[in-house]
Amino acid sequence: MGKQQPHSPASGSSLNTLVQNGTSQMNNGIYKPEITVHGNGTDVSNDKAMKGKAKRKTITQAMALSLVDVAKNNGRLERMQPYWNTYHCQNKVYSSGGRLYGMYCKNRFCTLCCANRKADIMNRYLPIIRQWEAPYFVTLTVKAVPARLLKSRIKKGIIRAFQQITAKYRKKHQRGKGIKLMGIKSLECNFNPIRKTYNPHLHLIVPSKEIADILVKEWLLKWGKEFTSSKAQHRTQVRNKEQALIEIVKYGSKIFTEPDVNKKATQKGQHQIHTAALDNIFRAMQGCRIFERFGFNLVLDQTHEKKKTILRTYEKWEFNMQHSDWLNQETLKGLTGYMVNNELYTLLSAKINQTSQ
Ligand SMILES: [Zn+2]
Repeated sequence: MGKQQPHSPASGSSLNTLVQNGTSQMNNGIYKPEITVHGNGTDVSNDKAMKGKAKRKTITQAMALSLVDVAKNNGRLERMQPYWNTYHCQNKVYSSGGRLYGMYCKNRFCTLCCANRKADIMNRYLPIIRQWEAPYFVTLTVKAVPARLLKSRIKKGIIRAFQQITAKYRKKHQRGKGIKLMGIKSLECNFNPIRKTYNPHLHLIVPSKEIADILVKEWLLKWGKEFTSSKAQHRTQVRNKEQALIEIVKYGSKIFTEPDVNKKATQKGQHQIHTAALDNIFRAMQGCRIFERFGFNLVLDQTHEKKKTILRTYEKWEFNMQHSDWLNQETLKGLTGYMVNNELYTLLSAKINQTSQ
């Protein structure tokens, strides 16, 4: 916060979901080209959704700037562009017919895009989970590692171990000697700022206790006592299917990290954003699927095709970090009326921690 708005070397070049068309229109005497937008847009009259969007944009922009610095300071210049793309996500938005449209960066470290992805996953998977009679929520963990071991712990450890377990049961099932494992899973990674360690783990929802028990048993067998313990694995019956799915699709790493992870309730104002740790997590998870189903398929849903709309009359808004809101480019009026509260202001201005971990 408080920094000059920088310009990306290729500002928005990979974000072209908005296309300016050749035909032009005059609106209130001001020349405006027609633009093509994708998707259904956001309902402008939904105050809560609009303020939520402004909050996510404020957090994402501050975080992306810090991630750019981390990448630059570590000499990983190829990491800078994706972070810049996220910085520019939804920078310019267009309102028309009561809906708001803009370009999405589609990066996994963008809280704006993650909110979209979450809605998409909920739409596709909630109807399936609702059909499961007594689903279980399972957490599979292994011992935490320092940053240098994180990538191999995720790719050669957690992901491979899980694949081997499901493959074993698939073969058993094919021979008629057991049930097929199925469910949905997400990969998550926490950072412990005191120990400076990373704790990648899996969250799953499975249709039955039987599958939950098999997964925990096989996981413990696979890793042995050196890497895990039975009390670090969790199984609970899902009471609220929608809430369980929300838990699962939550972002693959926690943006806000508590200063003391052993304290259950972190006091207000104690959170920090550890961007160097986040950069380590994003790099380690590169190329991994964060959210995945296993043992079943989805019926293809055609409604997923994003529709195109041509806007001829619209208002153009541009995000302004100082205002934490999009401003109308003609009237300078704020779009959402969102105001950053003191706690978030302090967090974003003083508590983004770039110390290398
Ligand atoms: Zn984005």
